[in-house]
Amino acid sequence: MAGDPLAFLDDEIQALKDQGLYFQVRVLQSEQAPLALIDGRQVINLASNNYLGLTTHPRLREAAIQAIRDYGVGSGAVRTIIGTMTLHEELERRLADFKHTEAAIVFQSGFTANTGVIPALVGEGDVIVSDELNHASIIDGSRLTKARRVVYKHKDTDDLRQRLEETKGARRVLVVTDGIFSMDGDIAPLDKIVEVAEPYGAIVMVDDAHASGVLGANGRGTVDHYGLHGRVHVQVGTLSKAIGALGGYIAGSKALREWLVQRGRPYLFSTSHPPSVAATCLAALDVLREEPGLIERLWDNTRYFKSGLQQLGFNTGISETPITPVIVGESEKALRLSTRLFEEGVFAQAIVYPTVAQGKARVRTIVTATHRREDLDRALAAFARVGKELGAVA
Ligand SMILES: *Cc1c(COP(=O)(O)O)cnc(C)c1O
Repeated sequence: MAGDPLAFLDDEIQALKDQGLYFQVRVLQSEQAPLALIDGRQVINLASNNYLGLTTHPRLREAAIQAIRDYGVGSGAVRTIIGTMTLHEELERRLADFKHTEAAIVFQSGFTANTGVIPALVGEGDVIVSDELNHASIIDGSRLTKARRVVYKHKDTDDLRQRLEETKGARRVLVVTDGIFSMDGDIAPLDKIVEVAEPYGAIVMVDDAHASGVLGANGRGTVDHYGLHGRVHVQVGTLSKAIGALGGYIAGSKALREWLVQRGRPYLFSTSHPPSVAATCLAALDVLREEPGLIERLWDNTRYFKSGLQQLGFNTGISETPITPVIVGESEKALRLSTRLFEEGVFAQAIVYPTVAQGKARVRTIVTATHRREDLDRALAAFARVGKELGAVA
């Protein structure tokens, strides 16, 4: 008999370990909250995307429970068969309203929103022009097409213009960027991107996974932040981060929605959300409108924590948002910093090569609206102690 055809996995896994690229999955044993029980230790949690604390908001919990009572736990079909429930349609109307667009369509996740929309818009004879630091789901969505893929330097609109010059003769051009970049916490220059792209007749797409619920009036996102309503053709958002539940969506024109109903493959071939997820997201949109104080608290906490880290002498890079990296250089150092912080009661994820460039290894922090000042002070004290111990700050 031949050997185990999966035997190569042992070698591959060992190779990851040898290169220091093997990660251990931490387990959350409590709710997703600012103070959390992680791997048996009570810690200040600086690692979630739960920007507004909505994962545990009482109104969202109640909405989910009520929807389960009224409609059960599953939708039982894909959207185009009989998996479109009243709640799904209501959520899409409300998302369009939230984004000030004609229409919106919900997918199972932000990931499937990107892998669904990009192949529906471009193919053979087309070009995708993409920021070099765009999210993996944009890269994968692009790989699912036969379009030519061109990468421009991070946020560099001169380079973008040059790349667009090279697209002449293409049938269609799609320019795509993250709204907020998840590793550095910087914001795309969407106003300049739109200006550069418009003369070329390019489709402009922004992925606002980290910006929805965070930037713009009531958290409407990057388009609202720059006052670009009507000039960005495809807005992707997630319901899994600030919104606190699960899902992704695309907001834009009625025709875009209609086309994605016909040709968005995850929409066509993967089951829709349980009704409780749609109901949770509807409640989240109510909260965004009725409790603007949450976003204010998020930004207050962001300023407080970021300036605290800077005063301690840490390098926080080019962050402008609640995502604040603490850049320490070598992978080893970032991993050590994260481990020692955890022992001191703070969880912040180490992010190392190849996720970020060599020499740019970091511990990434994300504060939320629901961290208390005393949590942030305790976290800063731990950063100060461990930073000195590791020689990351003086
Ligand atoms: C997190 C993220 C996604 C994926 O969203 P999910 O809803 O978690 O699948 C897509 N794009 C960007 C830019 C993200 O940060």
